[in-house]
Amino acid sequence: MDCLFCKIASGEIPSLKIEEDGKHLAFLDIHPCSKGHTVVIPKKHSAAFAEMSERESAELFAFVNGVSKQIYKNLNADGLSIGTNVYEAAGQTVMHTHIHIIPRYNGDGGGSMHSIVSSCSAEEKDMKYLAQIQNQIRK
Ligand code: AMP
Ligand code: ZN
Repeated sequence: MDCLFCKIASGEIPSLKIEEDGKHLAFLDIHPCSKGHTVVIPKKHSAAFAEMSERESAELFAFVNGVSKQIYKNLNADGLSIGTNVYEAAGQTVMHTHIHIIPRYNGDGGGSMHSIVSSCSAEEKDMKYLAQIQNQIRK
């Protein structure tokens, strides 16, 4: 398959490896948002996080957890932003599931998850409307 991260997983394209096990690989992002920005991939191809099985995503996150602790400790980070862009609408550019681990440092000027998007009108923040959304998601 013509997939950049499959090629990194197989070693066909080199990467700056941080950690690896049989099913996962963590490597430095080539365009880091902060010092130590790391990308974690499952070696098995899936296009996006939402297309993985719950079991495989649980294994992926267990691996992410270990790598994130290693990064936090060894780079003396003050915090971490951990997340994944799912599909183009969310900014995904490489269509192979990956989790970003972005070390955060006091005063780095970055925002929280809340700075990603702010698209709700006042009406959409109303409790009645939120209850409708709750029902829509749960149906
Ligand atoms: P996303 O925008 O969530 O799809 O993230 C893709 C990430 O992969 C970006 O942060 C890129 O900088 C990174 N990236 C692209 N090509 C490479 C590469 N060859 N080695 C390491 N990271 C890469
Ligand atoms: Zn792939």
